[in-house]
Amino acid sequence: MSGKTSGGPGTLLVSAGHAHGVSGSSVNPPVHRASTFLFDTLAAFETASRTPFDGPFYGRVGTPTTFAFEQAIAELEGGHRSIATSSGVAAISAVFLAFLDKGDHVLVVDTVYDPVRRFCGRMLSRLGIETTFYHPAMGAEIETLIRPQTRLIYMESPGSGTFDMQDVAAIVAVAKARGLRTAIDATWATPLFMKPLALGVDVSIHAATKYIVGHSDAMLGVLTANAETYDAVRRSTQDLGACAGSEECNLGLRGLRTLEVRLRHHEAAAIDIASWLEGRPQVARVLHPGLPSFPGHDIWKRQLSGSCGLFAVELVDSDPASVRSLVDGLRHFKIGFSWGGYESLILPMHPEKARQVARWDGKGALLRLHVGLETVSDLKADLAAGLERLRPL
Ligand SMILES: *Cc1c(COP(=O)(O)O)cnc(C)c1O
Repeated sequence: MSGKTSGGPGTLLVSAGHAHGVSGSSVNPPVHRASTFLFDTLAAFETASRTPFDGPFYGRVGTPTTFAFEQAIAELEGGHRSIATSSGVAAISAVFLAFLDKGDHVLVVDTVYDPVRRFCGRMLSRLGIETTFYHPAMGAEIETLIRPQTRLIYMESPGSGTFDMQDVAAIVAVAKARGLRTAIDATWATPLFMKPLALGVDVSIHAATKYIVGHSDAMLGVLTANAETYDAVRRSTQDLGACAGSEECNLGLRGLRTLEVRLRHHEAAAIDIASWLEGRPQVARVLHPGLPSFPGHDIWKRQLSGSCGLFAVELVDSDPASVRSLVDGLRHFKIGFSWGGYESLILPMHPEKARQVARWDGKGALLRLHVGLETVSDLKADLAAGLERLRPL
């Protein structure tokens, strides 16, 4: 494994996690498929089995490929160590279970990714762990929700569906004063545009399935912990058996090399399209943290250094059948789950269904767009034709 890389983000992305130096070696490290690793002596086996694992021991613990991916993410995040998991949700579940015990209480942002809300309602409540969902606009006031049993504050910024920004620094200050752990899902920001550990967060989580893999062809999660929390989250991922495969980590590593150029294109194209949509008569609101009109824009400017291709538009209240025909008739924006690949996607969002405190007050349909790498003028023409299909109620 390489040591710490110096240079700008692009340089770091190209070289992080690389074990170079051997003349004639391939640019990319080979994919190491393995369950069993062999040792010459029992003593060597025993040394390799000691935690923290610094080299191959057993496939579930890691392979040279998974270690290389973890090393690269740890460098990017400026964290103690990173752990690759089988999916983003696996990383998130492992973090909850690392810090929470029977009788504990956890604060979770109300704009959380839906499967995480389900995890709280099913798995955590079965284990006797209580969840309170808090409003994403809460900063220091989150203190009023802390109970003697509270152990963890779980953030996601920007949040899912409506992209609400959280004041991470203010929440971390409260958590530190009260001895609570903090974790954040920073998937939208990617490890490039936000540095949660520098803001004092204990664990940063990414659905690498999205921009890190970047081509919609693998499931992968990754978390990065500081030195105080690493052992706990490591035990949790191991107990769950939530390890990532070598093939997936290899795709994650390959994605990292082009992450900055892809993101810069997604960012510019999405800002262009979002600003253009703001001026369309069929659009009530555009929800994009990078737009000056967005309520959380100031926090975005303070805590992130860029934006991605994912945002939402609220349409003016229209005939529901015409909203379906808008979506169904698009040629370039495909209908599908997930985002972060090279392709443009569209999906209706329903934040009114699950939220408890951050009530969605929109009247018209809410459509989430992922702006891919297609030619921007083609995407705009596609959306313009779609908006023409809308009919008033
Ligand atoms: C997709 C997503 C996840 C889950 O990642 P998977 O790899 O699909 O399990 C978690 N958080 C956010 C914000 C996501 O968009």
